[in-house]
Amino acid sequence: MSGKLKVSIDRKGCINCRQCWNTCPEFFEQNQKDTYSQIISKYRIENNPGEGEAPAKLGEKIRKAADLCQARIIHIYVTAS
Ligand code: SF4
Repeated sequence: MSGKLKVSIDRKGCINCRQCWNTCPEFFEQNQKDTYSQIISKYRIENNPGEGEAPAKLGEKIRKAADLCQARIIHIYVTAS
């Protein structure tokens, strides 16, 4: 699939179930201050911890993480490049 993979986390709804960073630690991590999930800094858009752009090679793992998120707060969008 062509286009860019954008990912958002509605961070305030995070319940710390750990599924996202356990499934795809290349993209998700736990914020040490507020404890919510965040996108690792190198993939953030405008340094927003809840908005990022993923490399295609991580797409499958990120989708799996989103499926496993018990709070259903990880959203994936494919946009025209
Ligand atoms: S999978 Fe969802 S609820 Fe669980 S830690 Fe990640 S963002 Fe939070």
